[in-house]
Amino acid sequence: MSETKFTEAPVAVERCSAVGLEIRATEGDPKDIAEAMAAIDKYLAIFAQPIPEMRCLKCGTPQTGLLAAMLHNGFQWGLVNGEGACATCGWPGRGIHRIPDVGVLEMVLQYHPDYVQGKAAPAKARGET
Ligand SMILES: [Zn+2]
Repeated sequence: MSETKFTEAPVAVERCSAVGLEIRATEGDPKDIAEAMAAIDKYLAIFAQPIPEMRCLKCGTPQTGLLAAMLHNGFQWGLVNGEGACATCGWPGRGIHRIPDVGVLEMVLQYHPDYVQGKAAPAKARGET
């Protein structure tokens, strides 16, 4: 990745959640559904809730869709599988998500500013593995 520094705080950004992404489980044991939704929310906590039109939370460039594809300035895949960044400003994101005990979600999500700026506790401190 480039030498981009993330010292500027972008506008207030909500943390991502299953409800925010409209992920719903409709079949199965209610206990299993509750556990799966909790696992999804735990996983998504390091990401920002996408803003309308999948715009970059730092520079506003659409990350996905026709305009981003035509202008080549949206989400750009990085060298690490599933990871990438905004091609315009370098804000990091992930496009392939392997949610433990749940499955794979393919959707570009940008990391929450607290995570990028180092304010969030490391994964081990939060009890994640
Ligand atoms: Zn950007």
